[in-house]
Amino acid sequence: MSLAIQEQVSLRAYNTLAVDVRARFFVAVDSLEQLQAALLWAQQQDIAVLLLGGGSNLVLAADLDLLVIHLQLRGIQVLDEDANFARIEVQAGENWHDFVQWSLAQGLSGLENLSLIPGHVGAAPVQNIGAYGAELQDYFESAWVYDRQTQQPQRLTKAQCQFAYRDSLFKRESGRRVILSVIFKLPKQADLRLDYGDLRGYLAQQQISAPTPQDVSRAVCAIRAEKLPDPQQLANTGSFFKNPVVSAEHAEQLKQRYPKLVCFAQADGQSKLAAGWLIDQAGWKGHRQGDAGVHAKQALVLVNYGTASGQDILQLAAQIQADIRERYGVELEIEPNVLG
Ligand SMILES: Cc1cc2nc3c(=O)[nH]c(=O)nc-3n(C[C@H](O)[C@H](O)[C@H](O)COP(=O)(O)OP(=O)(O)OC[C@H]3O[C@@H](n4cnc5c(N)ncnc54)[C@H](O)[C@@H]3O)c2cc1C
Repeated sequence: MSLAIQEQVSLRAYNTLAVDVRARFFVAVDSLEQLQAALLWAQQQDIAVLLLGGGSNLVLAADLDLLVIHLQLRGIQVLDEDANFARIEVQAGENWHDFVQWSLAQGLSGLENLSLIPGHVGAAPVQNIGAYGAELQDYFESAWVYDRQTQQPQRLTKAQCQFAYRDSLFKRESGRRVILSVIFKLPKQADLRLDYGDLRGYLAQQQISAPTPQDVSRAVCAIRAEKLPDPQQLANTGSFFKNPVVSAEHAEQLKQRYPKLVCFAQADGQSKLAAGWLIDQAGWKGHRQGDAGVHAKQALVLVNYGTASGQDILQLAAQIQADIRERYGVELEIEPNVLG
């Protein structure tokens, strides 16, 4: 099998932060056979590999001396269905939002709150994508993966994927397993989750009293478009920091000092703080250093106004982390994958 491996490829068009670094080698694959051939080639060259989807959760800090494998496996298939559920297998290279819209058009629900999240289906389990009170794991059944250690395809159940907040087995053992396809079990009867963010308020404003999953999807899209910059217009990688989890005592102390602190009690007794609120209160919103900046409407999003490098973005992030540590005694963890 011949592989079209290119050399010294600019990754600017392949990451939504629009950072201009080069990959020493680059190949697009659209089948398991091509993937195996690309992995074998990298092994023979003794060179590392980066698995690339839509590039919307990456910070590329330097040129990459490795083989980038752009996963382009396509296809959506209904495996089986009954009166209540349908099981759908989606190949890794499908666009996430397009798949969500496809599922809603089939009369299936569950994914509406995750509308408009950029990227590919294959990367969605990596950080267990979440938004508006929903997470990928809610309707995830299993995934076909290629295990680079055993060199075998393997089906992993939800329990085996060890999903947690913006985390999974795939993130913890980064690069070991290539997600080939994801199987979802989607309900035909909607069980809408409207208690998060401005969803209820937005639907009431639109005078929608009995929303359908498609109404919720449209609401999520409208609210997101209002708050988050479109990477096509202003390069960014979504939320730059995870929401930090602190002890209940720590949250209580902060609440005494900052009565408007945004915090959510967790099942384990700890408290999750809104990282965006902390950064906003610290005065960073709209701050700009050269072409690296904090978005003017959403303090959790770092943006590239044009020629910022990955290092410029990371330097700004480090300043924010130090400030938040000093002010609130809280550690902010970077959410996207940092490379190079
Ligand atoms: C404007 C904006 C808004 C966002 N909003 C949200 C949000 O609301 N919630 C949320 O959770 N995230 C959000 N994100 C982050 C991002 O969209 C998700 O993390 C998405 O799942 C990344 O998909 P991708 O295909 O772009 O992954 P990439 O950036 O290409 O890759 C991300 C990681 O996954 C690995 N990977 C990619 N494909 C595979 C595969 N097939 N098998 C194994 N590993 C793989 C990569 O090596 C890398 O480590 C947002 C990003 C942007 C730019």
